Amino acid sequence: MRAGTRAGTERIDELLRDRLLIMVNDRSAINVLPYVPVRRGGLVLTGAAAPARCRKIRNALPETVVVMDHGSHTHRVATPEAPFGLMSDRGWRDLDLSGLEEILDGQRTNGASYAVTPTCFIPVDEAGSAQVLAATIAQANQLRRVDTVVVLPCSWRWLRRCSVSLLAEQVRACRHPVALIMQSDGDPLERNQVAEGLRQLCRSCPRLVLWRTDLAAFDAMAHGALGAAVGVSAVLRHGVAPQPGNGGGGHKPHPVVLVRRLLRYHRVATLQDWFAHIDPWTCDCAICKGAALTRFSDRDADVIAALQHSVCELYALHEDLDATLAGDERIGWWRQQLADAWEYHRLLATQTGTEVSFPKVLQSWRRQSPVALPRAEERRGQNRSGPS
Ligand SMILES: [Zn+2]
Repeated sequence: MRAGTRAGTERIDELLRDRLLIMVNDRSAINVLPYVPVRRGGLVLTGAAAPARCRKIRNALPETVVVMDHGSHTHRVATPEAPFGLMSDRGWRDLDLSGLEEILDGQRTNGASYAVTPTCFIPVDEAGSAQVLAATIAQANQLRRVDTVVVLPCSWRWLRRCSVSLLAEQVRACRHPVALIMQSDGDPLERNQVAEGLRQLCRSCPRLVLWRTDLAAFDAMAHGALGAAVGVSAVLRHGVAPQPGNGGGGHKPHPVVLVRRLLRYHRVATLQDWFAHIDPWTCDCAICKGAALTRFSDRDADVIAALQHSVCELYALHEDLDATLAGDERIGWWRQQLADAWEYHRLLATQTGTEVSFPKVLQSWRRQSPVALPRAEERRGQNRSGPS
């Protein structure tokens, strides 16, 4: 039994390690699937039809990693009694341990490569939120299975200096790999201390995956995260606080593209402004084949092509990351990408005669990497000698 458990643990870690997943609504999954490399990619499906879509893809392509995320954190705040739950067409259901097992088994029955917990949102700064986090991990640790990733959808405030050590302790206490979602209105990494806190967390927690994110996936993996899942749309690139009526979609599609040189997503309209009077930058990915990045209109076909372009460029960047050795070599590679991006921002400003600011997130990634967080017992020793 024990040997089997260990083998299972290795298997799920090997499925996650250095793998970049694309998080996508079940309706768009087919559009991106052809551009997902089997060995180092995969899909996280969201949306009501995710189970059926997962089953279909896995039946047709059994080697492709596909999992699903019910997005429970967009519906409910976790409580110590009910950290897990699920929204279905019959309404909301709190999940006890057997209910949770049933949902995780259901994901596997529908072909998911591993199960993903339907965890509710974990806020901070409110009475008892540390208790909620601890209860989430404690309940997950009662699961007698080795095929599960525990999603932790946390407020960005958990990443601040005052709370990141507590978060790290709980992630390390988890028997399962943990997929961290950072919630914020807008980009969580623009909040103070978050970029540094995330790096410390990645360095301190060997079984951490960054989930529902953007290019932060690369900063996290450079700093020791096991893997990551990048969203195809803005709403899937960070966590969302629970609100009535969430998950309905209804956003207006406008083409957004990943500009790999700038390590940044931009609206095509912004690129069109920049390149109004000079030759636009082109792209050599499998979709663009040398065409200009400014060409995407807001027609459906162009919105899909823009999405496919971004997936191709993400995997091109990931191929480079994957070719490096984890540790100093990978961090060095990432620092070089950031240095190049800084040069490209300068070049763009010169070429276009406009002001192109270097984004705050990229600035914070250019800073020196922090060291790993001390373990709890070391921290208590430090606290005696002065403020933390
Ligand atoms: Zn392209």
